[in-house]
Amino acid sequence: MKIINQIFSLRKILNIARARGKTVGFVPTMGALHRGHAALLRRCRRENDLTVLSIFVNPLQFGPHEDFRRYPRDLKHDVLLAKKENVDIIFHPSAELLYPKRYLTYIDVREITERLCGKTRPGHFRGVATVVGKLLHIINPDVLYLGQKDAQQCAVLDQMIRDLNFATKVRIVPTVRESDGLALSSRNAYLNAQERQEASILYQALKLAKSHVAHGQRQAKNVEAVMRDLIQNNTRAKIDYVACVNADTLQPIATLKGRTLIALAVFFGKTRLIDNIIIRIN
Ligand code: AMP
Repeated sequence: MKIINQIFSLRKILNIARARGKTVGFVPTMGALHRGHAALLRRCRRENDLTVLSIFVNPLQFGPHEDFRRYPRDLKHDVLLAKKENVDIIFHPSAELLYPKRYLTYIDVREITERLCGKTRPGHFRGVATVVGKLLHIINPDVLYLGQKDAQQCAVLDQMIRDLNFATKVRIVPTVRESDGLALSSRNAYLNAQERQEASILYQALKLAKSHVAHGQRQAKNVEAVMRDLIQNNTRAKIDYVACVNADTLQPIATLKGRTLIALAVFFGKTRLIDNIIIRIN
């Protein structure tokens, strides 16, 4: 496994591999790797000749009052996990390399970035689209692997890839969870014992929504209300949003139909956690 922090050396290796007919899969992350990231790497490994993992805590996607400084960083641990998952290349650039002085170019995906998480985190998806756009230009992978846990991120990047004619295919990997249902996230490390215990309510709320739909409920506002009630009656958490939306456009829907994304964002103390499920309604 190679750890690379320069663009030219990464391009050189990838050009040689490609000239030999090898396919390249890419998993972008911010590090603090866990079993969720491992699932992406495993799928990438299975489906490509070469697996490239990027580790970069992207300053551009954090708001001024968010957790950029305290975001967990543990390169030693990440290198061990990457080795175990047979990663070929870790790309670990510095912020100065990706955003040198007088950096002026950004990727702005409209509409779908303004909903759900975009309301609470203005500029977040601009940061995500810009960094992933840059990484796709540098790596030019055949396939990009993303986690379903960040459903809006998947929708935004899918839109960007289509709009800007990137030749990369996107594969979405199901959310990996703890035994009590909590989606794995690097931010779970911020939770204290009580918050951690309460956080399992997120998946319970999603499962409750699913069962209401299975029993015939089709009104988004009713589904959202049962989720809100469950969270508010059982925890001290603060709801950012609970929403039923079209899974492709992320447009709110009054009556549930087709591929529906049920998504939520909830604060446990200062820690904001997100989760979602997609259901298909005939
Ligand atoms: P992050 O390092 O948190 O930016 O995440 C990097 C990639 O891993 C993104 O595509 C995430 O959606 C994905 N990911 C994070 N957590 C999980 C999880 N619990 N299950 C599956 N994928 C995940």
